[in-house]
Amino acid sequence: MADFNITFLGTGTSQGVPVIGCDCRVCRSEDLRDRRSRSSIYIETPETAFVVDTGPDFRMQCLRENVRRVEAAVFTHSHTDHMMGFDDLRPFCPGGAPLPVYGSETTIHDLQRVFIFAFNGENRFPGYVNPVANIVNEPFKLGETLLTPLPVPHGRTTVFGYLFTRHGEKQAAYLSDCKAVPDPVIEQVKGVPHLILDALRYKPHPTHMNIEEALAVSNRVKPGRTWFTHLCHEVLHSELESELPEDVRIAFDGLKLSV
Ligand SMILES: [Zn+2]
Ligand SMILES: [Zn+2]
Ligand SMILES: [Zn+2]
Repeated sequence: MADFNITFLGTGTSQGVPVIGCDCRVCRSEDLRDRRSRSSIYIETPETAFVVDTGPDFRMQCLRENVRRVEAAVFTHSHTDHMMGFDDLRPFCPGGAPLPVYGSETTIHDLQRVFIFAFNGENRFPGYVNPVANIVNEPFKLGETLLTPLPVPHGRTTVFGYLFTRHGEKQAAYLSDCKAVPDPVIEQVKGVPHLILDALRYKPHPTHMNIEEALAVSNRVKPGRTWFTHLCHEVLHSELESELPEDVRIAFDGLKLSV
């Protein structure tokens, strides 16, 4: 196994693709890369394994990818498409073992409010999810991987992307939900081998980058490779990918990257 391994659990926007009841060409596409469950990544290193976000599709994503080990859950923000699978962290708390969760103050407070039964310590049965909240603003370590929170604007809120560094070397940056990438964050992620970016659709959107905006960010960061994620049903994988520069690709559910 390489030292840093990413599996895309999901690469879709909040409603997922196909959208319920939609007959558009992307929702009916037979290309499996056009089936996008809610955005999340799973990271494995020699020392540990963790997820970034647990959306509503988390259970099926774990079954699909045969995920057996999750030793921490890291959150970008508390929108429902990123946290509603939280209770399915139960299998990763064997016998009620504690599971550290990480996020901004707002995100952790939202998790504690929505999943109060998990955090309040009452009705504690073996097998229930047993989260241990960690509010983070500064870089923190999971095994040998340093995670640096990257504050980015997402509508009226500021959410976190994350930069992953090992032994002083950048591995990947994950920016799944953002309307822009501010200059200080561009500087932090410059030259990263894998840049994973929000690229919702062709048309502009008030809270997400569109493809044009994401390409502009990619040009400034100059990563080894850029991967678009959080896509909606306006984007046909094969069509968009044929129009993109060689070093910009579209992530899809089940895609694995290693550094
Ligand atoms: Zn989202
Ligand atoms: Zn559709
Ligand atoms: Zn969001």
